[in-house]
Amino acid sequence: MYATHLSCVFCGEEHPLDVVYKCRKCGGVLDVRYDYERLRNEVNLSEIFSKRGDSLWKYRVFLPVRNSENVVSLVEGMTPLFHAESLGRVLGLRNLYIKDERRNPTSSFKDRPYSVGVSMAKEFRARVTVAASSGNAAASLAAYSAKAGMDCYIFVHDKVPMNRILEIQSYGARVIRVRGWGDF
Ligand SMILES: [Zn+2]
Repeated sequence: MYATHLSCVFCGEEHPLDVVYKCRKCGGVLDVRYDYERLRNEVNLSEIFSKRGDSLWKYRVFLPVRNSENVVSLVEGMTPLFHAESLGRVLGLRNLYIKDERRNPTSSFKDRPYSVGVSMAKEFRARVTVAASSGNAAASLAAYSAKAGMDCYIFVHDKVPMNRILEIQSYGARVIRVRGWGDF
């Protein structure tokens, strides 16, 4: 594994690669940092990029999961690109391509981060996942939690349509409706 630590995107404060949700100094978002020197010396990047793979996990060396047994995958990523010729003509762009992210397991690009996020949760021995979301993120987290065998709790505001709630529940997640909570 080449991930070394977490770094705050705002103040640069470094944190161990552990269960840390936000920067302990300023509350900022954390980014995973890697040993780029070792990556450059030990990994043949062109081999990885040219290799066929059915999910984003073909790029495993760039991801922070240590133990492959903790990888939680529903075969996400690697979605196709389509040449959008008609739209390109309207916009004056000859080489306009659209990546069809609907082909992900829950029809959303959110499956990429949740595949990695739930894998890390498994690695940290979490038993429960929780999110406040009423959209694609909720469905994705619910699906990956189900795959990992984790209980999942989703908080939604009370205006969320029933079809959306049913989608989240279909993965076995528990949905908690919260009255008067603003958009999220
Ligand atoms: Zn910070």
